[in-house]
Amino acid sequence: MVPSAARITISGVVQGVGFRPFIHRLARRHRLTGYVRNTSDGVDIHAEGDAADIRRFYSACSRQLPCLARIYGKNMKPASPLGLKEFSIRESAPGGSISTLVPADIAVCPECLKELFDPADRRYRYPFINCTNCGPRFSIIEGLPYDRSKTTMRGFKLCPACREEFRDIADRRYHAQPNACPVCGPQVRLIDAGGRELAAGEQALSATTRALLRGKIVAVKGISGYHIAVDAYNLAAVRLLRLRKHRPAKPFALMAADPESVNSLCLVNSRERELLLSPERPIVLLRKKKETRVSAALAPDNNCLGVMLCSAPLQYLLLRPHPGRAIRSPRLLVMTSANIADEPIEIDDQQCRSRLAGICDCFLTHNRPIRNRLDDSIAQVIDGRAVLLRRGRGYAPFPFNLDKPVKHTLACGAELKTTLCLAKNSFAFVSQYIGDLKTGPTFSFYTRTLRTMEKLMDIRPQLIAADLHPDYLSSRMAAEYRRGRASLVRVQHHHAHLASVIAEHRISGPVIGICMDGIGLGTDGRIWGGEFFTGDLKGFHRRGHLDYRIMPGADTATREPWRMAVSFLWHCYGNDTPALKLDLYKRHAADLPALLESMPYQAAYTSSAGRLFDAVSSLLGICDRISYEAQAAIRLQMFAERSRSRRSLPFVIREENGMLILDSSPMIRALVKGLRAGEQREDLARAFHNGFAEACSRVCHRLAGACATRRPAVCLSGGVFQNKLLLETLVKKVRAQLLKVYYNELLPANDGAISLGQALIANRQH
Ligand code: ZN
Ligand code: ZN
Ligand code: FE
Repeated sequence: MVPSAARITISGVVQGVGFRPFIHRLARRHRLTGYVRNTSDGVDIHAEGDAADIRRFYSACSRQLPCLARIYGKNMKPASPLGLKEFSIRESAPGGSISTLVPADIAVCPECLKELFDPADRRYRYPFINCTNCGPRFSIIEGLPYDRSKTTMRGFKLCPACREEFRDIADRRYHAQPNACPVCGPQVRLIDAGGRELAAGEQALSATTRALLRGKIVAVKGISGYHIAVDAYNLAAVRLLRLRKHRPAKPFALMAADPESVNSLCLVNSRERELLLSPERPIVLLRKKKETRVSAALAPDNNCLGVMLCSAPLQYLLLRPHPGRAIRSPRLLVMTSANIADEPIEIDDQQCRSRLAGICDCFLTHNRPIRNRLDDSIAQVIDGRAVLLRRGRGYAPFPFNLDKPVKHTLACGAELKTTLCLAKNSFAFVSQYIGDLKTGPTFSFYTRTLRTMEKLMDIRPQLIAADLHPDYLSSRMAAEYRRGRASLVRVQHHHAHLASVIAEHRISGPVIGICMDGIGLGTDGRIWGGEFFTGDLKGFHRRGHLDYRIMPGADTATREPWRMAVSFLWHCYGNDTPALKLDLYKRHAADLPALLESMPYQAAYTSSAGRLFDAVSSLLGICDRISYEAQAAIRLQMFAERSRSRRSLPFVIREENGMLILDSSPMIRALVKGLRAGEQREDLARAFHNGFAEACSRVCHRLAGACATRRPAVCLSGGVFQNKLLLETLVKKVRAQLLKVYYNELLPANDGAISLGQALIANRQH
């Protein structure tokens, strides 16, 4: 045999995830000698042996990866044999620019979980057990290359037993940077609001369990932020939490140790079960079985409950009964983000204690600091696929792989539920969910995230993208950041929505874009949000939109959907509206005359689909005022889901100067007629959904017919498409036209997707 040799380079998430031991085992299996080492770009492999073995080894490199690893690039070149006698792992090659990817935080793996509950194991009931396949990553990383000294674990010195594991290539904890045990690692403590220690270690865990069972409200420090926990079956505790958190209606997320624990409350199909158990451990929206007092208190007026399984070992210790001891555990916990109203989730021990002293009775905390804050991700199975509604822990900061290399780019996102995106080479890194920039602490979280990501991803933006709206705080930040050193591209909001779908699915060629959204500034100075485009990343044509309607009091109309209802009615019936004697008028008798009188003088117009859903919700008496974003539309969807009506309320499409205008007036008239005839609100809500999907599909059909491309792809985006009923109904109708349809899956369809779209458009337009 003539020995040959090859040099293989692999890029992606390949450091700190057990990749080198994996390569080591693989090389031995293929009878190869050589070495593997970390470089600034990923890993570098020198392999010697039989040429066919090397080829087989090369293709095996990207199969059966360690669960945290992701490969984005792989390359092999011939090399000269060095005559090495064995395969080894070498020290990292120094220098160069960093382009290693940061892994996400992953739930405790099955092997660690087994050890956690094994009385013979040295980590029995140790809340910080982890290995190369699991545990905290992004949340504890301060810098790269990924070494313990650059994580928040640097204060904990490995004990001899842990060091042994860390160095042993055959061990599951070989080079596991957060490796820890009861001797050398972080410890838990239960403290009261005054900071006094109530218990430590195992006693802290059992005291917490007892407190929860007694109905106490407990803050629990998780992997990437604090949660507030109460026993979900304790109605009084749940109500008290709503009261103290000033959160009357917004659903609470729940946590269980296994899918079976939620069987009595929710229906779980196999796809949902898979999603619940996935190492990312998102909150999964599951359909409630029958409404009970418990489920009603947890998520009022909602057909779903949001459930996640434990991801941190600490959480398992609270929810799994303690074998051998007569201590009960709660079966199901409310596990809601520990924060005040719309502010970011708490990560700092002292700040959490001082700010949440009025909400929580005690705090289960520990001494491993959290560096990067991440909210829980939220997902739902829609159209048979896992769709993210919020992207945080478990998913961020994995990048999106792009077709073409891009400049070093910063895209600043929008304003509500925002994210930012940094891109370079062929990667786009979308930040975790940040939130509503209008609250001060959220804005500092936003700028801090920018600094962290610039450093970790080693990106120095030359190109800045921002929304067309000059008053968004993100747009102002863009203008300030730019300061002469970079060029700024302004991107229309719904074009960015559309581009996010194109980018996620790597679609080439022009597409039809249907964007049903809240609000975003249009190129005509009006507020858009119910748009039909054709275009691509380079540009778009507005081909159609929902008819403009007055938005009385602009932003006030968003918080008070009944104002939108009046606007739609006024458009149909003018000054005759009061004569309809609708219930809506009785509910707002005091404010109504002034509002009607002001209508001709109102200046804000919108084509927003979100506002249309709001109006219908209020008109049906479902929701007049909201206490959280999109509440009126969500409640409307819930009503619709309870009906089997196949009726579609009528919309009209008319053409004005080549623009297709989707007119909702016939629908409003039909709705009023139905209401006055005493029809079920559930049926009317359903018929509205059916009619709206039908209308969108008809516009799509006309655009496809006029399109130069045969069978263009159809892309759906915008917050309104987080409505599962609407999305599934429309998708079916578009597929029936033999068109391929795409929607956001790894990014939420709301403004969380905007930054990715902006980054790509800016690169194409610049
Ligand atoms: Zn593990
Ligand atoms: Zn140790
Ligand atoms: Fe939007």
